[in-house]
Amino acid sequence: MKIKLITMISCVLLITACSTSSLGRKQITLFSNAELDKMGITSFEQMKKETPISHNKAVNNFVQCVAKAITKNVDKTVHSGEWEVVVFDSKQVNAFALPGGKIGVYTGILNVTENQDQLAAIIGHEVGHVIEHHSNERLSSGQLAQVGLAAANAILTSQEIENKNMWMAGLGLGVQYGVLMPYSRTHESEADIVGQNLMARSGFDPRESVKLWQNMAKLNQSQPPEFMSTHPSNQTRIKQLSAQLATSMNYYQNAAEKPHCVKPKVIPKPKGSK
Ligand SMILES: [Zn+2]
Repeated sequence: MKIKLITMISCVLLITACSTSSLGRKQITLFSNAELDKMGITSFEQMKKETPISHNKAVNNFVQCVAKAITKNVDKTVHSGEWEVVVFDSKQVNAFALPGGKIGVYTGILNVTENQDQLAAIIGHEVGHVIEHHSNERLSSGQLAQVGLAAANAILTSQEIENKNMWMAGLGLGVQYGVLMPYSRTHESEADIVGQNLMARSGFDPRESVKLWQNMAKLNQSQPPEFMSTHPSNQTRIKQLSAQLATSMNYYQNAAEKPHCVKPKVIPKPKGSK
């Protein structure tokens, strides 16, 4: 209740900085979309410099096929141009999407996703965070606001960026930059719902999203993947995803296209790994 009151007061004080998520939740977003896009694009360029990129044709075709089918159904107000999708050659079980139309998928996560629909669930979820402006909210909250403002300013004026790791964490690149910052339960729920509806509208079977999270939970017991450390998982989310099927199955059945993206039989191990 107290937080709600603070949010309301802040919203009154910062009337231009308030927005509403597609599920009707009030949000404080201090940054413009252009600022967030710029942060996303800058971070992505950095990632591409620092992380090996997979040039395996079959793997790239598969990921591009799934990502393209998903992004086709994302509103142009989220990103008006083409989305850039890069497969990183890394055993990390991870993926991310950034404002500015950027998607990164690690080859490691392809060993967890069993088929095109489960990869669509991952990409749908990540794009869901972007659709709902979650990184803007994170950067706008509390102590991160200073870092975010400094970062936005630095990027816009092309100066040296201080606290880079913190704002990259705010964008959802925490693991890569050593600052662990799990998404809040509210953000996760929103990304789950928005992501599941999105994958279904794109012609992917939404029931696979439930299976994916069950597999992730199993994996989490023996060897927690990076994806799980930034995405807290629990029975509640599996229940919620199952409940959401009542809506998303309709989208799936009425989808204009049903993609056929072929998952390669073998996902090559990243260079240098055993
Ligand atoms: Zn998430």
